[in-house]
Amino acid sequence: MKKLLALILAVLMMVACFAGCGSSEKLVMGTNASFPPYEFVDDNGKIVGIDAEIAEVIAEKLGMELEIKDMEFDSLLTAVQSKTIDVALAGMTVTDERKLAVNFSDTYATGVQVIIVNEASDIKTVDDLKNKKIGVQAGTTGDIYCTDEFGQENVKQYQNGALAVAALKNNQVDCVVIDNEPAKNYVKANQGLKILETEYAVEDYAAAISKENNELLEKFNKALSELKADGTIDNIIKKYIPAE
Ligand code: GLN
Repeated sequence: MKKLLALILAVLMMVACFAGCGSSEKLVMGTNASFPPYEFVDDNGKIVGIDAEIAEVIAEKLGMELEIKDMEFDSLLTAVQSKTIDVALAGMTVTDERKLAVNFSDTYATGVQVIIVNEASDIKTVDDLKNKKIGVQAGTTGDIYCTDEFGQENVKQYQNGALAVAALKNNQVDCVVIDNEPAKNYVKANQGLKILETEYAVEDYAAAISKENNELLEKFNKALSELKADGTIDNIIKKYIPAE
């Protein structure tokens, strides 16, 4: 009888440990993994990049387990609002309009909207974009600015940057407006393209978190500021964006 009791106790303890010890809380991050070097799929099919690594070290600090979901860029904010994901990290620019829908963390990087053209293009400055066909990624700030400034009829939306760049190579659009670091990656991977010197807009990147999850926002910002202070964030960025 004593033996049986001991056995039952041992089993109960094991069950308790499985439930408690192993399962740390999950941090579900949403991103659009075609935005190198911030997020892309590596040769092993894993989502890597600056945002993925920043989320990883923040989750670690919070004692949480990171899970990354790949989705279209223009569904990320809705996913945050509906709590399908806890946080969106996607080289996402802080804008006043987006602030109506979600809360943003402190910023962790700067982005610049630049213009990619074919090498032989007559487009030299932002002003030359008038009446040209502009390729953008749907729902991005590049899309929003260009639609405002040059009219919807001149802007062609693509689901990601790679598709917009492919359209530029096929002369379906005259230029692509996109963030500078992905732009450099696309130009390196495709012959005959160049980035104009003129910067179209300078922006801040931050993580988007539900307005109903202030607890996570505070924890996230605290972890982020510690990781900025000890150089971790800088090192992650330097790993993917080597100094020129
Ligand atoms: N920074 C741009 C934006 O927030 C593009 C981000 C992206 O395509 N991942 O709209």
